[in-house]
Amino acid sequence: MKLRNIFDKKTVFSFEVFPPKKTSNINTVYRTLEELEGLTPDFISVTFSAGGSGNSALALDIASKIKEGNKVEPMIHLPCINYSKAEIENVLSELDTRGIENILALRGDINPDIPPKNDFKYASDLISFIKEHGDYDIAGACYPEAHIEATDMVEDILNLKKKVDAGADHLISQLFFDNDMFYKFREKTQLAGINVPIEAGIMPIMNKSQIERMVSMCGASLPQKFVKVMQRFEHNPEALRDAGIAYAIDQIVDLLANGVDGIHLYTMNNSYVAKKISDAVGSLINKK
Ligand code: FAD
Repeated sequence: MKLRNIFDKKTVFSFEVFPPKKTSNINTVYRTLEELEGLTPDFISVTFSAGGSGNSALALDIASKIKEGNKVEPMIHLPCINYSKAEIENVLSELDTRGIENILALRGDINPDIPPKNDFKYASDLISFIKEHGDYDIAGACYPEAHIEATDMVEDILNLKKKVDAGADHLISQLFFDNDMFYKFREKTQLAGINVPIEAGIMPIMNKSQIERMVSMCGASLPQKFVKVMQRFEHNPEALRDAGIAYAIDQIVDLLANGVDGIHLYTMNNSYVAKKISDAVGSLINKK
């Protein structure tokens, strides 16, 4: 099923998982998947390495496993910067064989150790290419606090408009901890004539180093309330996890009250946290 059809009917609730390292036991991630599928999100997306040491074959296997479970639709992430057109064509034919119809089309981060292949420069190039190759549901990424390489928000939103004009059916946001940032961003996208659904990306804090790593990569700002939680509980992992769950629930309730199109939960492969959050907000996820 193509995900664009779900946005017309309800507020979408989705999860993101990542393939484990090559040395990890794949059965652990399959067990987590079963637990996540039991929470019946609208879809589960699977991250895909932008090249280098990542485990992209496993990403396809995980997406297939979700499809076979028959409960939840999979979406595969597809970063293009380090892949040639021929390599992307191979991935698309793999997706066809496996019956996977939903793609998050990405540029991928520039890795100084990997010279980019020059077939795709931006995610919008990949979107145009995918559209020439078949009828897929295509999502794009967006950045409530602007992409880290963009000069300013105006430039980034104008570039986002190009991505939507190329054929993105809906958007998923980078994580953020301050909902006001998201509301201001949403208003600007509307002014720019971007009228596809935007899911809000929510990452529950599970440990301090995870958040510090993510924030240094994407530049998300940390509200005072959030910093206090981290400082107060950083040496008590259980308390920090529970405070992280409570903070994420608080963010999601506010987003739902403000009519968000969807919530995309970065689960970090933690089904316990995903279940606590799903249980708390399940009755608020409305049918339209
Ligand atoms: P683009 O949309 O191409 O934008 C990149 C930069 O170029 C921006 O600064 C933009 O303003 C600018 N730009 C865009 N179009 C133009 C244009 N036509 N002219 C001039 N400038 C332009 N990475 C992975 O490797 N694997 C994953 O699985 C993965 N999953 C992700 C999931 C989500 C929800 C998000 C938000 C990000 C994910 N990423 C992933 C990270 C992503 O690859 C990086 O953020 C990357 O740096 C940008 O990707 P993009 O698709 O947004 O790029």
